[in-house]
Amino acid sequence: MDVTILAEAVKSGDRRALARAITLVESAREDHRAQARALVAEVARAGRQALRIGLSGTPGVGKSTFIESFGCFLTAQGLRVAVLAVDPSSARSGGSILGDKTRMERLSRDPMAFIRPSPSQTHLGGVARRTREAVALCEAAGYDVVLIETVGVGQSETMVAEMCDLFLLLLAPAGGDELQGVKRGIMEMADLILVNKADGDLKPAAMRTQADYAGALRLLRRRPQDPEGFPKALTVSALEENGLAQAWEEMQTLTAWRRAHGHWDSRRAAQARHWFEEEVRQGLLARLTREPMRGVLHSLGAQVAEGRRTPDEAAAELLGQLGA
Ligand code: GDP
Repeated sequence: MDVTILAEAVKSGDRRALARAITLVESAREDHRAQARALVAEVARAGRQALRIGLSGTPGVGKSTFIESFGCFLTAQGLRVAVLAVDPSSARSGGSILGDKTRMERLSRDPMAFIRPSPSQTHLGGVARRTREAVALCEAAGYDVVLIETVGVGQSETMVAEMCDLFLLLLAPAGGDELQGVKRGIMEMADLILVNKADGDLKPAAMRTQADYAGALRLLRRRPQDPEGFPKALTVSALEENGLAQAWEEMQTLTAWRRAHGHWDSRRAAQARHWFEEEVRQGLLARLTREPMRGVLHSLGAQVAEGRRTPDEAAAELLGQLGA
């Protein structure tokens, strides 16, 4: 495969080329990896930046409904929208391609939109790299907004937040008046909390939930990257397409402020550094699982277990060999 030709096709906005390029970055094959690396480096030279928006929420909260209506709202304004899904749980993989297609029917037919479901991959490190590279490819292809959907499980939210400019947390109206079991750490990552399903019978509950979260957010320490009043909690109805314009306005206000105050660039720089270090870490770990280091690890481990070496001494020996 000629990487330069593929890169040119991606940059010209050719959707099939973009899909092929993403397939390439998803491949675990050694030769594909080298090509993918060259491809991503090549398209990065275009220097295009999209607004990267992470979206998290537990299953059933309305993520795909929201992406469908918010995505259509954006394309109606002339913006090109790419949607990527991150799903490290094996439970949904396999079925997710069909699922996402039918769940976002309108958006998937929209020529201004590009939807890419999660591949059936389970390793979080692999998912992170694939998603990051897919984001870079979508940016190079000229998309204005890249939405990255993640299910609210474990580390995937932190990972997505580490590659986004904005992080949205979608919640459902709570039954009672206590806050739902949203972990504090996740709340702290959110730039906007959107309480969905603010329609019909659920509207009063949605408004109460919004008020509860607005109160809880006010108690958090103000982050340096935020103007006064952020993070915010709003109500939306993905189904009835209410509140989308206001949510978008808040996103734009926040983004403009961060750009003007240098936070956008410094955050992207910090993220790039983070992912560099993460790749190094993953690379080192990968070497430990391959020969000859795997054997060294095993035999030194045995010597430690038998008391012939101290853990420290054996570790120093192994690290010395890694450096060699
Ligand atoms: P996901 O699992 O987070 O992607 O959630 P879905 O988008 O598949 O939605 C789960 C269910 O909630 C579906 O039955 C949707 O029709 C419903 N739903 C989504 N958004 C809304 C909304 O704004 N209002 C109401 N009443 N129902 C919604």
